[in-house]
Amino acid sequence: MVSIVVPVFNESSNLDALWSRLKQVLDGLGREWEVVFIDDGSRDDSLKILRGIAANEDGHVRVVELARNFGQHSAILAGFRQSKGAVVVTLDADLQNPPEEIPRLLEAIDEGNDVVGGWREERQDDAFRRYASRLHNRLTSMIVGVPMHDYGCMLRAYRRHIVDTVVDCDEKAAFVPALANTFAKRVAEIPVGHDERQAGESKYNLFGLAKLSLNLITGFSLIPIQALSMTGIGIFILDAMFAAILMIHRIVYGPQEEGALWTLFAVLFLFVGFIFLALGLIGEYVGRIYIEVRRRPTYIVRAVHGAEADGSEPQRN
Ligand code: UDP
Ligand code: MG
Repeated sequence: MVSIVVPVFNESSNLDALWSRLKQVLDGLGREWEVVFIDDGSRDDSLKILRGIAANEDGHVRVVELARNFGQHSAILAGFRQSKGAVVVTLDADLQNPPEEIPRLLEAIDEGNDVVGGWREERQDDAFRRYASRLHNRLTSMIVGVPMHDYGCMLRAYRRHIVDTVVDCDEKAAFVPALANTFAKRVAEIPVGHDERQAGESKYNLFGLAKLSLNLITGFSLIPIQALSMTGIGIFILDAMFAAILMIHRIVYGPQEEGALWTLFAVLFLFVGFIFLALGLIGEYVGRIYIEVRRRPTYIVRAVHGAEADGSEPQRN
């Protein structure tokens, strides 16, 4: 079975069009399907429309009503938890991701990939947004260690065990595509279409995007903390060079009037370097605590093969 997970926040003017296109695609799949809509605290008629759709589709469509607006990624996590399919596809509700691409995502999953990401080759967003996004993708690829052209595209397919692991992490500020990739063995990316937003406006402003990027850096790496220690070491090296130059100067030209001042500088920077190193060291311990507290799995066993093992039950540590 395939589960389609759609986060919805104030999308009342898109939902009818979305549903008619999505329904057509799903009927043509030749597989069992379910759709999980998450109403992420919409203040318009979205919930009413979604409940109307669910009422007409006996059992195939469920609507998860969140108590308030928790944000796109939290909404997707809520949808993941409710989904039952062996494959889960996420999709935006504003019709920027064409539902007609779903069969191609599923094909790529059938080829043995754990995660299949859509790649919006021709993005229909403004130039600033495209540029910011390119930067964001480079950064994410580096931090996650899985290079992808488009981490922001929410038209993606995940195998069940990936979805379960992501849900189990229960992170407060999860960035779903990045988190999922850290648990995947095989990841693929396929070009998908991208349309302009059908109606309504984007829920992300500059501040929202910056927050997402910062969340990503601090959520997936200790780079900012480690930069402190590196700065400390850098200052030590520069200071040692500075001290050496002072010494040579003194030997060659003899004592100078302002020599004491320069020596004081050299001593001062020795201490500054030391402070940075100390901060970095404390940060290193804080970082370790952070990694423990985050409780991401250290490893994931999918199956145990061999004589006594039944080879089927996936376990997580
Ligand atoms: N969304 C959500 N909660 C939010 C913000 C957005 O569920 O707090 C949904 C929104 O309804 C849409 C998807 O997430 O289905 C992507 O949002 P949007 O189109 O505003 O983002 P953009 O395409 O501009 O990145
Ligand atoms: Mg959009």
